[in-house]
Amino acid sequence: MNINATLVNYYFLCHRKLWLHAHTIRMEHTSEIVYEGKLIGEESYPQRAEKNQEVEISIPYPPLGADGALTAKIDFFDAKKGIVHETKKSNAKEKAHTAQVQFYLYLLRKNGIAVSYGLIEYPKLRLTERVTLDEEEEKQVEGWVNEIAELLAQAHCPARLPVSKCRSCSYFDFCWIDEP
Ligand code: SF4
Repeated sequence: MNINATLVNYYFLCHRKLWLHAHTIRMEHTSEIVYEGKLIGEESYPQRAEKNQEVEISIPYPPLGADGALTAKIDFFDAKKGIVHETKKSNAKEKAHTAQVQFYLYLLRKNGIAVSYGLIEYPKLRLTERVTLDEEEEKQVEGWVNEIAELLAQAHCPARLPVSKCRSCSYFDFCWIDEP
C-alpha cells in the first residue's frame, strides 16, 4: 500500500474517508462535485499544459512494507522556477489543500529536485494562495504520513463524522444509507 496526495488530503477531511478510499471502496466517480473539480482544473488554465510539466514522483516508505512508498502525480510543475501549481474549485480555502501541496513539495525535495513554493489557485474565489515548506513544516508532513500509516493499519473503518460535515461527501450514501 502507498500513501499518495489524495490520502493526505483526506486525512484533513475525514479519517473514515481516508480509510475507505485506501481500502479501494471508491465513490468519487459517482460524485458530480468531484467531476466539477476536475473540469475546473482542466478548463481554467488550459495554457498550463504547454509550459508546465506533469510529474510522477515517489520515495520509499518502509513502514508500509517492503514495497511501501509515498507517491504523487503532480499535474502542473514549473521545473524552471520550482513552482508547483494546484487548482481547487472550492468556495473556501482548506488546510487539506495546503497539506496536499506541501506533500508535493516534500516529495520533490526528497528526490533532490529544487523547489521554491506552491501556488493554489481558486478560480471561484479569484485568489491565489502561496504554500511554503520550511524545515519545521517538513517534520509536520512526516508526522501526517506516520499518522496516516497508523490509520491504514487499523482493521476497522473509523467512525463517521457528524452528518452536518458530510453533505457534500461522495461517500454520503455509503455512510448514511441506514439513517431515516
Ligand atoms: S460521509 Fe461523512 S463520515 Fe462518511 S466518509 Fe464522508 S465525511 Fe466521512
